Amino acid sequence: MSTLRSFAGLGISPGIAIGRPVVIENRPAAVRQQSIGLEEVAGEVARLREAARRAARHIAELVDETRRQVGPEYAAILDAHRLMFEDPTLLGDIEKTIASRRVNAEAALEIVVRELLARFDQLADVYLRERRTDLLDVAAELQRALQGRLAPSWRTNGEDTIVIADDVPPSQALQMTSKHICGFASETGGTTSHTTIIARSLGIPAVVGVEGLVAGARDATLVIVDGFEGHVLVDPDPALVQVYRLRAEEHQQRRRELLQLAKLPAVTSDGRRIRLAANIDLTGELAAAREAGAEGIGLFRSEFLFIRSSPQLPDEEEQLRTYRELLEAFPESPVTIRTFDLGGKKLARELLGSPETNPVLGLRGVRLCLQKPEFFRTQIRALLRAGAAAPQRLRVLVPMVSSLEEVRTVRIFFQRVRRELVQEGYAVPERFEFGVMIEVPAAAIVADRLAPEVDFFAVGTNDLTQYTLAVDRGNEQVAALYRPFHPAVLHLLRRVVEAAGAARIPVSLCGEMAGDPLAVPVLVGLGIQELSMHPAALPVVRGLIRALQYREARRIAQRALQLASAKAVEEFLLEQLSGLLSHLKVRIQP
Ligand code: PEP
Ligand code: MG
Repeated sequence: MSTLRSFAGLGISPGIAIGRPVVIENRPAAVRQQSIGLEEVAGEVARLREAARRAARHIAELVDETRRQVGPEYAAILDAHRLMFEDPTLLGDIEKTIASRRVNAEAALEIVVRELLARFDQLADVYLRERRTDLLDVAAELQRALQGRLAPSWRTNGEDTIVIADDVPPSQALQMTSKHICGFASETGGTTSHTTIIARSLGIPAVVGVEGLVAGARDATLVIVDGFEGHVLVDPDPALVQVYRLRAEEHQQRRRELLQLAKLPAVTSDGRRIRLAANIDLTGELAAAREAGAEGIGLFRSEFLFIRSSPQLPDEEEQLRTYRELLEAFPESPVTIRTFDLGGKKLARELLGSPETNPVLGLRGVRLCLQKPEFFRTQIRALLRAGAAAPQRLRVLVPMVSSLEEVRTVRIFFQRVRRELVQEGYAVPERFEFGVMIEVPAAAIVADRLAPEVDFFAVGTNDLTQYTLAVDRGNEQVAALYRPFHPAVLHLLRRVVEAAGAARIPVSLCGEMAGDPLAVPVLVGLGIQELSMHPAALPVVRGLIRALQYREARRIAQRALQLASAKAVEEFLLEQLSGLLSHLKVRIQP
């Protein structure tokens, strides 16, 4: 009989999920090169061919399932991979390497892929260079087949399913949109890594950074994910399951009560109005955002369009359709569309051509867009065309800005593309709002110089925390050091609010912090008047603001700014808020 195993991690998306686990192992095991004798070559080649057949069959199954559960556009990506197994060139090269170098199939595969990648990197043709991602994916699949550990698909069988994974890239995380995935837990990830953000956006309870989870859950039949407490319970007994079912129902009830507040304005008890907007990654979240009473979109992460269509680039018409859909979903409110924030860890291998050794400090966001003017131009054309019908409401937001020159260059680029559209006879908006993300410490420090040249600021605390504290936001090894309440971050926030106030431009905050109940009083007290968050967080934050006094929030912010450490700030805020939160019956993480 199986016994309960309990694991602890970071609860990054609240809620409780109970379901059948499906274990996803994406990391291939390390490859050991072994020398083989001449008489073993034929056996090794046969093993390779058999692994290739198994891998192709596995991908064909995935294609079918993906088509049914997620959509044909995703299935097409996988189908291209299946075809690569039918191409004799790759397998032929590996077979020759087994024979000529007398090494095992796993090592031969590594050698061939390394050589091919080096050749890909020298290609001038962008389209061909983009195929390197496919090659990497196919090689990983073949390696797993050789090692006898093909990752199972995200098969749900129509039952409530919990994904248990070692590591999930954002491209795969989109499979979470399948309606039977009810919970998620992984060994890697941090509070603001992108897979985390997708789980949270979809309202799926999730726990990340759980050491030893895959080995511990491999043969499990039932799993509970407690996104409040950061626990994963493997094979719980029926009594424990019942306790958690009751807790889940209690949580749903609380959410329903809070949702009733959706129509009420977010205004403090002494009259300070705060605008609450939604962060949207996928247009499928628009209905939830409206239901929760979002006053427009504070952040649309347009790079998700790219992630969805990868390795193809989303063309102008496809982008136009999406941007129009966003503007139409909120016909009376501002809609903030961020230009592509690709690079870093956000899937830009296809665009970059060559890998970077330190991508988070590399060609990311506006830097990448300015290096790829044709790619950027397509997006600007789509944005301006979509904005023609909603001139006052379109807000264009530029990510990863670190200098004034970048702001000026992007503005000139927009003017050039606008002229080009006018010449072609397209309608363009007379005026639209042009803003920048403040998420690099340099931008926060020179905010007073940036403010007069833009129409609004949007503060990205996910990256601002990462870059200020030098802590990778997606690395579970340093997750304990990732502290948005660090006084250094709070002082930068104050600086940004002051610079925006002096230039009379609005400042919104759209990092994950905006949806954290613990952060709300301090952010309001610092003077921030727009908070943008994943739709699921809106009801709680609205309730909190309505229970808050602005005068009190200012006092809390002033005191927090004087404290010396993140821990001291967190403890102080918890203490201040406990009364307010118990009144609202909101549960928070210590
Ligand atoms: C941020 O950095 O806070 C932000 C909102 O952008 P992203 O999470 O997409 O990097
Ligand atoms: Mg960011």
